Amino acid sequence: MTHTQGAIFLDRDGVINENSAEHIKSWDEFTFIPGALDSLRDLAQTGLPIFIVTNQAAVNRGMMSHETLDDIHRRMIAIIEEAGGRITKVYYCPHDNHEGCECRKPGSGMLKQAAAEFGINLKESFMVGDAWTDVGAGFGVGARSILLLTGRGRWNFAPAWNRFGLNFAAACDIADATTMIRAALAGHPMESTARLRNAFHMALHPREALVL
Ligand SMILES: [Mg+2]
Ligand SMILES: [Zn+2]
Repeated sequence: MTHTQGAIFLDRDGVINENSAEHIKSWDEFTFIPGALDSLRDLAQTGLPIFIVTNQAAVNRGMMSHETLDDIHRRMIAIIEEAGGRITKVYYCPHDNHEGCECRKPGSGMLKQAAAEFGINLKESFMVGDAWTDVGAGFGVGARSILLLTGRGRWNFAPAWNRFGLNFAAACDIADATTMIRAALAGHPMESTARLRNAFHMALHPREALVL
């Protein structure tokens, strides 16, 4: 097995569901981002494993139990599957910053864990998120990172740029990222979409960097 396959790693909040500064602490607070379910169906059709990798420090801050978080994920996956999508496994980091764990993004611990469990080639993988920490988690293992402008994305572009320069791509939302991933899997260069270029009324660098 020298040519193990890549995977698609998705952050959760701000990618699949609307982000909340107060954290998503119960199913009542969980709202899918428009179009996310369609994109998850399209991503499933690539045949690649799809993992969610999400920081959920609210658990160790005592704001939410592991059981409640598992319940949120069970309900989320049921709806994703009903829409034709597929999630291979959800990984979450319950730790707070000060705990110094390896799973909290920008660490790549959750990606490495999936690689070990499922035999994933991380260099052939994609990491999609709305924060510089997501870009960092992908960057740390040589995956192609895509920063979305949904969720916290608009405010995370500059920090990501400062840390990673041209080593990440930008996309409007998960639908846009899906277009880019499918193009990359078809052997085309992973370029910014017309949607993103139109959104900013300017030509972007071929490697997706843009000036806000
Ligand atoms: Mg997020
Ligand atoms: Zn952790």
